[in-house]
Amino acid sequence: MLSIVEPATEEVMAEVPRAGTGDVDSAVAAARGAFPAWRAVAPGDRAAIMRAIADGIEAKLDSLARIEARNAGKPISDATGEIGMVVETFRYYAAGPERLLGKTIPVAGGVDFTFREPMGVVGLIVPWNFPLAIASWKVAPALAAGNTVVLKPAELTPLSALELEKIALEAGLPEGVLNVVVGPGSTCGQRMVEHPDINKIAFTGSTEVGRSIAEGAAGTIKRVTLELGGKSAAVVFADADIDKAAAAVPYAVFGNAGQDCCARSRILVERSQLDRFLEVMEGTVKAMRVGDPLDSSTEMGPLISASHREAVASFVPDERNVAFRGGVPEGPGYWFPPTVLAPVSNTERAAREEIFGPVACVIPFDGEEEAVRIANDTEYGLSGSIWTRDGGRALRVARAIDTGVLSINSNSSVRVSTPFGGFKQSGIGRELGPDALDHYTEVKNVYYSTEEGS
Ligand code: NAD
Repeated sequence: MLSIVEPATEEVMAEVPRAGTGDVDSAVAAARGAFPAWRAVAPGDRAAIMRAIADGIEAKLDSLARIEARNAGKPISDATGEIGMVVETFRYYAAGPERLLGKTIPVAGGVDFTFREPMGVVGLIVPWNFPLAIASWKVAPALAAGNTVVLKPAELTPLSALELEKIALEAGLPEGVLNVVVGPGSTCGQRMVEHPDINKIAFTGSTEVGRSIAEGAAGTIKRVTLELGGKSAAVVFADADIDKAAAAVPYAVFGNAGQDCCARSRILVERSQLDRFLEVMEGTVKAMRVGDPLDSSTEMGPLISASHREAVASFVPDERNVAFRGGVPEGPGYWFPPTVLAPVSNTERAAREEIFGPVACVIPFDGEEEAVRIANDTEYGLSGSIWTRDGGRALRVARAIDTGVLSINSNSSVRVSTPFGGFKQSGIGRELGPDALDHYTEVKNVYYSTEEGS
């Protein structure tokens, strides 16, 4: 059995059977068996089932948000927003089955057209930081395109995925179309990657595991999409509304206790405004409400586990570089205070590696060119923000930063209707938005001869 722990209390909140590789094989066999019938469901009927799943999730929104808040240790207000996004994601991709449009292409001697065919069985492997939201970004387009699914949630946070499986069945999804397997990545995840009957793996997680998935998938030339780590920059120019930026930027790194691939954990501030920026930021960070995830006023919860807290703490071995910190509750729970290191050079370990915790590095810069150089001096390229009141500069810098998702004068990262994904070692492919369906289909080209007698 797997003991599922509540990070805010360190208590076991549920016991879940631990799957092994044999369970993966059974899930794949069920998905393979269900595939021919599911792909043949009329597009409008498939859309109706997806809308019914969205309705089923919406009906249980509060209880799902509570599960997510307790299991992942995230503030209930965030968890409620995330489950709302899951509903929206199923509704958005419910339009998919009727919009898998092909093309007709002018050719000599006949007619040429394309179909978007489902891939077959897709394996979805997701992390613990946004458990059901990230699962839905994959499950919804995969089902809409006519695939069947084996979903492996992270072993620390499987509860919401198990609920989704039940809700989907109640909504009319045929047995075997969505199969949830709860087990370790090193056994179940790896088996999925190597399984000859899985046609594609969509993965969200660390760059390290992403690399091993790309290698493992090579054996069967599986299609792979990867959403990996990040070390993104919020670039604050002296001409920005400094008070507004300094009050907003902390939420882009301390949201979800920093366990966010989009965290802007490098805060680049133009040197002439550094002191004012830090002064306002300190007020914001010290006032941040860190505590019980189920309290509606909480802004930051605990980290996911004791071992993860140790890993985060290794980036702050002593107080030397700590400019200021927020507070944490006393007693049990994997707490870590929001921590600001300043001034930091981009060559330091804390500025180079993904910390995945509430630790921000404030890095001073002089001028636009240096800002772009520092922002790009990382192996990652997932998100980022630009804070300026100069419209031309905002667009110049946006074009110059090598990253998949940028916001200007905002912390915003993810919307259901816009593409999300990374440059460089932050991943391959895009999720969400209209084009995600392409990643769950193969293009088939058909040539039809119109020659006489053919
Ligand atoms: P992780 O890579 O350790 O695990 C992610 C998933 O992969 C889990 O389900 C795990 O069981 C499974 N897994 C582990 N080893 C495996 C293997 N050898 N083969 C197959 N599957 C395996 O990541 P995590 O600690 O759960 O999540 C944190 C990481 O996820 C961070 O690096 C973060 O940046 C990244 N992340 C990225 C995005 C994005 O969209 N780019 C979103 C959220 C999180």
